[in-house]
Amino acid sequence: MSRRRRQIYEGKAKILYEGPEPGTIIQYFKDDATAFNAQKREVIDGKGVLNNRISEFIFERLGGIGIPTHFIKRLNMREQLVRQVEIIPVEVIVRNIAAGTMAKRLGIDEGTQLPRAIVEFCYKSDELGDPLITEEHIAAFNWAGPQEMDDIMAMALRTNDFLSGLFAAVGIRLVDFKLEFGRHYENDMVRTVLADEVSPDTCRLWDMKTDDKLDKDRFRRDLGGLVEAYQEVASRLGILNKSEPQKGGKPVLVKSDRAEAANSGEKK
Ligand code: UDP
Repeated sequence: MSRRRRQIYEGKAKILYEGPEPGTIIQYFKDDATAFNAQKREVIDGKGVLNNRISEFIFERLGGIGIPTHFIKRLNMREQLVRQVEIIPVEVIVRNIAAGTMAKRLGIDEGTQLPRAIVEFCYKSDELGDPLITEEHIAAFNWAGPQEMDDIMAMALRTNDFLSGLFAAVGIRLVDFKLEFGRHYENDMVRTVLADEVSPDTCRLWDMKTDDKLDKDRFRRDLGGLVEAYQEVASRLGILNKSEPQKGGKPVLVKSDRAEAANSGEKK
């Protein structure tokens, strides 16, 4: 690109630029990894490219089941065009299995299945280290209105059900994840939409057979192989570059037991 674009904001893992039309933003995915409120940082070659692709895939699939999102389209390897929104200053965390700060805080062994999906809220503040808050704080300080909270809860739980199934289908357990929502203003209307990104940077993803971590915990816990893990997620979701050689041979016809039974009268 020849013209310099106006940078609106630089975060830990992304840069936001002014988009080509009013009301649009370009989200640029950096290779920077940070953890523990940015006390630990590293540049990991190729992370941004993978997150851009994985987040595109997930936002498109969520859009496909009727969850409104800020996503418009991916522009290139590192950038996507999104709708400009006013970010609601609340991080929404959905958990299926105890891990990370929740396991620590409540003294639950990491990996314990929770009796139901649990939704937590954190106040988005780097200075304060995103403290855990309740809906009382959100209401009292008017960080989000009651209708917005209803929409956020419904979208968060629907996203959890849908993504749990999507990942389970490729042998990955969705342990927990973080969502951010924004207000999208259009004419006289305002609507709550899913914003930011959903990627292995913002989810915990464990291999169902081996419990291998396929997410940012590889960086947080110095396990190494982060790019390989993100590549594995992308490849299982079927979204690696078409130009890249794919492993495996010819497609194989898979017959379920039920299909087998239904066809049992059939001669081979
Ligand atoms: N998470 C995130 N950004 C944050 C905090 C958490 O994306 O600022 C994600 C994290 O990747 C995990 C989930 O939210 O999938 C729950 O994180 P947790 O509260 O356990 O904190 P962490 O252990 O990540 O510090």
